[in-house]
Amino acid sequence: ATSMGVNRSTLVTALDNLTAAGMIEGRHGGGTYVSGSGWHSMAHAALPNWSEAAQEGWYYPNLPEIQQINQAEFRPGIIRLGTGELAPELMPNEAFNKILQTLSSQTRMLNYIEPQGSLALREALSIHLQSNGIQASPDSILIVSGSLQALHLISVGLLPRGSAVLLEKPSYLYSIHAFQSAGLKLNGIAMEEEGLHLGHLEHAIHTLHSGNDENNSESFPLLYTIPSFHNPTGSVMSCRRRDELMSLARKSGISILEDAAYQELWLDHPPPLPLKAMDQEGRVLHMGTLSKAVSPGLRLGWLVGPVPVIRRLADIKMQTDYGTSSLAQEAAAVWFTDGHHTTHMERLRPELRKRRDFMLELLHRYFHDIAEWATPEGGFYIWLRFTAEPLSTRKLFSACLEADVLIHPGYLYDRLDASHIRLSYAYASQDEMERGLMVLVEVARSLIT
Ligand code: PMP
Repeated sequence: ATSMGVNRSTLVTALDNLTAAGMIEGRHGGGTYVSGSGWHSMAHAALPNWSEAAQEGWYYPNLPEIQQINQAEFRPGIIRLGTGELAPELMPNEAFNKILQTLSSQTRMLNYIEPQGSLALREALSIHLQSNGIQASPDSILIVSGSLQALHLISVGLLPRGSAVLLEKPSYLYSIHAFQSAGLKLNGIAMEEEGLHLGHLEHAIHTLHSGNDENNSESFPLLYTIPSFHNPTGSVMSCRRRDELMSLARKSGISILEDAAYQELWLDHPPPLPLKAMDQEGRVLHMGTLSKAVSPGLRLGWLVGPVPVIRRLADIKMQTDYGTSSLAQEAAAVWFTDGHHTTHMERLRPELRKRRDFMLELLHRYFHDIAEWATPEGGFYIWLRFTAEPLSTRKLFSACLEADVLIHPGYLYDRLDASHIRLSYAYASQDEMERGLMVLVEVARSLIT
């Protein structure tokens, strides 16, 4: 807020100066225009300080480590032990090649598309969601450019600035950023094995309602949760905990944003049904994406919710990007209607299971005396905790990066976390896992002793 104040007054002074110098002119009801002659008289005016200007926008920058990760991921030879993305060889490249060829005779893929997204895709998703127990008509679905966009749209289109978002602690790092940059206040709730700690959640809701909190007590209380194969912990909210959460939501009047990015990526047995499937009253907004199980590059996700919410967010989306790529939407519609999705998931699960088991075996071999972890039943992640204290995960991250091994330190997901790293078995090959984990254990041991 301070920087916005400074910006505004700087801008006003600058406008005054430019007006005085004859560079701009004001017109009644018509805004401000640069005047032609002014440019000549100020031909040698100083350039703006772009480095300073680049710090001034209201959106938060990524943490330096995330910026480093985003760059390093594309470095040749890097071993990506933390990447939450399918390895390219696990993606359905051939199927999409075929689908794109069948699309070439159609023209819809080159047009703008209706605000909520391709009707063919929404119809296909409506059917697909039924297999997850969710009844969603096409008009209650919004197609988004990756589910991250749904988080942004909700943050700016549904939640008043300054209102509180309750969420698991730790949580997905870009969700945290989206909420924070939109001026929302985060309220982290501890997790336990079965999922969110409901006692803590109830206490936080109570504090919000009673206005004891500095946050605006009138605001729309929203809980953001990743119940199935949570990012970064890999844990699953039990069926019982989901039931209890839904009754707490009914009792306390909170709404829920369910992030189901990993719902279908079960390896041993399916997780409990999504919260949205248990939602009789329309309290739950539900986000899904093709990014984790199919392809992040398609940038294709969806939001399911009450029609007024979907329409409002569709309207903002039109103003933001005029719609998700029509080509991606048309291809995704065929992906679902022609049965590719089911075939792909059946092939993918054993491959991911193999990678998970291999990584667990290596962890057991190298890390058994310095760390602990749970066996994930799906998703991509192993949330590894170093039991030998003290070990700086900050130093661990930098030293590994120097040795061309990328890990995700736990403090990216919870600023106060000092003992975890997030590992992923979805991206690295078995050979890379072996080499990468050997580097990791060597660096870790050198930091412990
Ligand atoms: N939610 C969660 C929990 C995620 O892990 C991710 C991707 N890492 C996303 C949302 C965003 O995915 P996308 O925008 O690619 O759909």
